[in-house]
Amino acid sequence: KLSDRLAKVCEFVPNGAIVADIGSDHAYLPAWLILNNKITTAVAGEVVKGPYESACHLVKSLGLEDQITVRLANGLEAVKPEDNVTAVTIAGMGGSLISEILDRGYEKDILSGKERLILQPNIGERTLRLWLQDHSYEIIAEDMLEEDGKFYEVIVAEKATEAPTYTEKELQFGPFLLSNQTPVFKAKWADELEQKEYVLKQLKAAKGDQSAKIEKMTQLKTWIEELI
Ligand code: SAM
Repeated sequence: KLSDRLAKVCEFVPNGAIVADIGSDHAYLPAWLILNNKITTAVAGEVVKGPYESACHLVKSLGLEDQITVRLANGLEAVKPEDNVTAVTIAGMGGSLISEILDRGYEKDILSGKERLILQPNIGERTLRLWLQDHSYEIIAEDMLEEDGKFYEVIVAEKATEAPTYTEKELQFGPFLLSNQTPVFKAKWADELEQKEYVLKQLKAAKGDQSAKIEKMTQLKTWIEELI
């Protein structure tokens, strides 16, 4: 059984997509999509040898070698033009690492702009949204879930003709998540509020000039208090 987190990512993969799953680890995500007849072809990219071998092993044991190509490569370098990838999934990493992977793919022209990006950052969602905005990707959907006491956000984006302009609050909380506040959303931010209060206390007691950090944290705390 696939984790709820990866299942949520799969929900946003269009039927029949050609998927590149970057940082695929065991290749659970592409394997699940194929076994459930959502897609027929995928690339699983891994930069680390151990997980790459796990992916090869799973693909072989399921007899999916013709459908899933496993490649040992850094980020989007796992994708070749002839793959004609239509959806890229990057899950289970920090938002800044996901942004770096996208950035390298963008700079190297690996991203054609035609593929849907389905991203699941564990942290650093704001950084990722900022990258998307700066590179004219429009967020077309978002979702959030809780699994094993952790909160996860899924961000879906597609290339737009014009760069979207998100407000600071939308970058922080997510434009879709903000406009449709679910109980999970409120629970995440209630948790975050507690953490921010703790950090703020530490900052106020710390030596040196912490005023910039305190100001940023206080702003965020006020926003969260307004939300929940
Ligand atoms: N995507 C899977 C998931 O969500 O369950 C696996 C997440 S796992 C925590 C992150 C994986 O990304 C690791 O297997 C790691 O080796 C891989 N990874 C990290 N940086 C990468 C990069 N630049 N290119 C490809 N894979 C990368």
